Amino acid sequence: MMSISKGEIMKALVYHGERNIAWEEHPDPKILQPTDVIVKIDTTTICGTDLHIWKGDMPEVEDGRILGHEGVGTIIEVGEGVKNWKVGDRAILSCVSACGECEYCKKGLTSHCMNPEGAKGLGWIFGYMIDGTQAEKVRVPFADTSLYRIPDGVSDEQGCMVSDILPTGYEIGIRDGGVKEGDTIAVIGAGPVGLAAMMTSALHGAKRVIAIDFDDNRLENAKAKFGATHSVNAGDEDWFEQVMALTEGGLGVDVACEAVGVPVTLQNCFKIVRPGGQVANIGVHGAPVEIAMNKYWIQNIRMSMGLVNAVEGERLLQGITDGKFKAENLVTHHFDMNDMMDAYETFRNAKETKAMKVIITQK
Ligand SMILES: [Zn+2]
Ligand SMILES: [Zn+2]
Repeated sequence: MMSISKGEIMKALVYHGERNIAWEEHPDPKILQPTDVIVKIDTTTICGTDLHIWKGDMPEVEDGRILGHEGVGTIIEVGEGVKNWKVGDRAILSCVSACGECEYCKKGLTSHCMNPEGAKGLGWIFGYMIDGTQAEKVRVPFADTSLYRIPDGVSDEQGCMVSDILPTGYEIGIRDGGVKEGDTIAVIGAGPVGLAAMMTSALHGAKRVIAIDFDDNRLENAKAKFGATHSVNAGDEDWFEQVMALTEGGLGVDVACEAVGVPVTLQNCFKIVRPGGQVANIGVHGAPVEIAMNKYWIQNIRMSMGLVNAVEGERLLQGITDGKFKAENLVTHHFDMNDMMDAYETFRNAKETKAMKVIITQK
């Protein structure tokens, strides 16, 4: 029997099929390609996508896969083809592994990177097609084009929000939504991703940010900590009139962001957007959505949607250092890495625990 000597074993959060994950021993990652680095994870977190995998919604994930696609860490080994990084450097890991050379990467559409590491045409492979970041160590492919330096004054906790949640809200909601200086925007859904869109709208100078949700606590939170200037409870009978009254000339919002992923919220975005405005869908949908094109075709409404490219990290980090928004406000809980299973439990029961982002630290 081959024995594995000490120093070659780490702890990791391993997926073993539907509703079966464990914090267990796992062989250390190794450099496989010259463009790889090995990172010791200092800080990581859990994403809603990890819960989808746990639930068995993504059966393509193999038994034995280490989950996680967000984190901050220290480089402990460098492949011979890596130019920009050395041992001891600290970095933010992007949720998208971008080869930097394919047609999609060159266009900034890294979410469709044709890299040979996993599913061709999908840039998100961490904790999905290859082992991820919820571990003591992780192999990072394409290190030169998939890591960010941590600017002075940015904490690990803030940096961790730049792996996935902030780029998702910002790139798909605000940037691709075409938010401009002085705009009135609405974000339907005041969960973590909706809040990320609200807070990063400051980068584009949105004048009014209307948070729409069913939960008054979430709405208050959106106004207190995430840059919403107004809120409307979607359960109010006159919610629509309330929103329209907040817009210029009562014509509707310039940009309506959908951050839930169910049909009615996307349909409501079309209701509240003004002629010439834009609907930006951030939510992950599980069913077809009927849009009343017979009503809307004449309105010159644009619509955008997509998977995060995570190419705006520098800009988001600048926003953090400039004090435009407080990324750390997304964090609700802290755990030691050895309490990974507790972190999952807390995140999974977000309704009761009010968890948004849980920060997991390796000492
Ligand atoms: Zn994620
Ligand atoms: Zn690529």
